[in-house]
Amino acid sequence: MSDFLRLSDVDVDGRRVFIRADLNVPQDERGRVTDDTRIRASIPAIRDTLARGAAVMVTSHLGRPVEGRLTEADSLAPIASRTGELLGRQVMLIRDWVNGGTWHGDLRHGDLVVLENCRVNPGEKADSVHLAQQMANLCDVYCNDAFATAHRAEATTHAMALYAPVACAGPLMAAELDALGKALASPARPLVAIVGGAKVSTKLALLRALVDKVDALIVGGGIANTFLLAAGRRIGKSLAEPDLVAQARTILDTSADKVPLPVDVVCAKAFAADAPSAIKSVDDVADDDLILDIGPATAERYAAMIGDAGTIVWNGPVGVFELDAFSRGTRTIADAIARSRAFSIAGGGDTLAAIAKFHVTDRIGYISTGGGAFLEFLEGRKLPAVTVLEQRGREARERARG
Ligand code: ADP
Ligand code: MG
Repeated sequence: MSDFLRLSDVDVDGRRVFIRADLNVPQDERGRVTDDTRIRASIPAIRDTLARGAAVMVTSHLGRPVEGRLTEADSLAPIASRTGELLGRQVMLIRDWVNGGTWHGDLRHGDLVVLENCRVNPGEKADSVHLAQQMANLCDVYCNDAFATAHRAEATTHAMALYAPVACAGPLMAAELDALGKALASPARPLVAIVGGAKVSTKLALLRALVDKVDALIVGGGIANTFLLAAGRRIGKSLAEPDLVAQARTILDTSADKVPLPVDVVCAKAFAADAPSAIKSVDDVADDDLILDIGPATAERYAAMIGDAGTIVWNGPVGVFELDAFSRGTRTIADAIARSRAFSIAGGGDTLAAIAKFHVTDRIGYISTGGGAFLEFLEGRKLPAVTVLEQRGREARERARG
């Protein structure tokens, strides 16, 4: 059982609930919301608390504002109105809310307000205790439903949880932690991880952490190229990081049995949609070749490993999936995960784009909205926002036991 309290276990009737959500959505140049996935994902916590008789305050960061100055571009106004559309009701947006005021005195059960961009408040980024205490005074229950910022210790994600009367995880946060726990804490074996993408440098900590936990670590993309270099292969002009070859070699030296390398690859002479492509053995890569995908024999091998897996963790495409000629490897991996009966979890911006492109969204066990927080969790790092919720959860249980 997890240590943190869940929103669903907290009595919120007649209480003031403060929800730290992740409503940091992409916008066009006129501020219109271009993808409301994160707003939609945050609706269940809001709907649930309202239905159970709470007065609800919701805030989020948006973009990278300067503290102390709310500009129009940083305003949650478009997000508040989309939230209202999704809920079918008016939503008030409150500026300068940290010290309460009339709006706060007027809050009644069933009310919903959106509190302006929390990253505008001086002290937010620095995890200020003073700011956190002021915000905690606004509520009876603090609920963190923003998994995507759980790797950051900021006043609304961390310190506030220490001072609020009750601190709990919202349904989205809880679902992420449950899925990640299922994949990594006591996974059904074999545990197979697929790590692809452009650069080893951005995922070295991830590769190191995973290789000790998994039964197989499938590498793809530019990452596989660096491993091929480490194994003494020629990769022509392919994307790789020669500086990291030594690190890749260390991983291969200790765990070569777990890290299969491509036996065939898809090459082109230029990085372009219309560049003629050729399937080659890894032994035949020419000096002017670019490796842009894993080859079909390799993809089938990996698909078979995925088919035998008990648990699958996926981050990073194994080729330049954006271009059709180099998308087959990633498609084969995506299809194999979709077909598998294993519990699967996937995350990462480009990984999610690939999952959408290959129409397998509904057949992945859990799709993480986490981005950076997802990667840090996989790296085995403690997420500050989660650690504090766990601490408060343990304290609450001890008190309940008397
Ligand atoms: P994610 O966002 O899922 O964590 P990354 O950002 O690490 O993934 O990497 C995704 C990018 O890697 C994609 O844009 C893809 O085109 C690129 N990529 C994959 N394989 C190769 C390759 N062999 N050569 C160059 N780029 C590649
Ligand atoms: Mg990316």
